[in-house]
Amino acid sequence: MTSPSRLRPSTLLVHGGTERTLHGETSEALFLTSGFVYDSAEQAEATFAGTVRHYQYSRFGNPTVTMLEQRLALLEGAEACRVTATGMAAVHAALLSHLKRGDRLVASRALFGSCHWIVSTLLPRYGIEAEFVDGTDMQQWHAALARPAQMVLLETPSNPMLEVIDLAAVAALAHAAGALVVVDNVFATPLLQQPLQLGADIVVYSCTKHIDGQGRVLGGAVLAGAKWIEDTLQPFIRNTGPALSPFNAWLLLKGLETLPLRVNAASASAARVAGFLATQPGIARVWYPARTDHPQHALAMTQMSAGGTLVTFEVADGKDAAFRLMNALRLIRISNNLGDSKSLVTHPATTTHMRIGAPERARLGISDGVVRLSVGLEDAADLTDDLGAALAVMRGG
Ligand SMILES: *Cc1c(COP(=O)(O)O)cnc(C)c1O
Repeated sequence: MTSPSRLRPSTLLVHGGTERTLHGETSEALFLTSGFVYDSAEQAEATFAGTVRHYQYSRFGNPTVTMLEQRLALLEGAEACRVTATGMAAVHAALLSHLKRGDRLVASRALFGSCHWIVSTLLPRYGIEAEFVDGTDMQQWHAALARPAQMVLLETPSNPMLEVIDLAAVAALAHAAGALVVVDNVFATPLLQQPLQLGADIVVYSCTKHIDGQGRVLGGAVLAGAKWIEDTLQPFIRNTGPALSPFNAWLLLKGLETLPLRVNAASASAARVAGFLATQPGIARVWYPARTDHPQHALAMTQMSAGGTLVTFEVADGKDAAFRLMNALRLIRISNNLGDSKSLVTHPATTTHMRIGAPERARLGISDGVVRLSVGLEDAADLTDDLGAALAVMRGG
């Protein structure tokens, strides 16, 4: 194969990381095995001493899982990758492998619900100080990072309000404070935004979303420099066991092959759907990073190569109207998941962001009229037809 570093993303996603067995199979082999055997006691001894490379146990490593890690690392332009059973296992491992009692983490407030819980509830329990800032307000980042910190965690665009954070500016402040920058890049996907190139140190994914993209399996990934992965993350993963099943790794490898086709198509449809929604009576506001009326449109377009697959909008008449609209949809289904080939709609205030409470929702701008739409692979005209018909029902009261 041509040197992988010279291949373009779509090619890397089909060929990158592939290691064929002696049978020369076309598709990646599925090593559905928990353990591995040794030819001799000496080989086992050398493997455990680290002088011979041999798979030992699928909690530490597995050939199908390794193929996925190498393919993801090539796409991201990262030195190394470890995959986990879920996106939350990836976030948890990235933070807890690095932080210890007395350390300090600064995070943007607009985080995925479970990330918010780890920062606000779990870390303080272990004596790790955690401070939230409004990620779009550079003054707050300045103030919070005027003191030393060990890690910064942020999500851009954020869930569900699609806030965009200046990655390069935050990374500069974080590095001056002594912190590593962890970016949850789920909404942008590795195709539309490369945080490592903008100064981030660690990128985390829920592979459950666009990387599988077909609503089948859970998975997570952490990408970073080889030294940090080997010295800090790998011992934590090896000994705490958030390992990804080889079967799920195989499905995710297959998902990666079509990632550009799926993300580009869904992102183009999302732009059309956002444009349609913005013209509809009864809709107060639409948030979509590629639209010029997005509050951080200019910044978004320097960091992202397209607007992404999620559109957030606010219906003018609050929760009852939002529910009437959602209940009247026929094609687009109600689900708290996202990044699927099927378009999915969520009412964050009563589901994904219910537990954070009304005052925090108000701080994040998540009103009772806010609806999040994850655009899938249907024909965009069928999606706007479905939304148009449901909006008519909503307006009819
Ligand atoms: C879904 C999601 C997660 C968690 O991933 P799981 O695979 O569900 O554990 C974390 N961050 C963001 C932004 C997500 O959308």
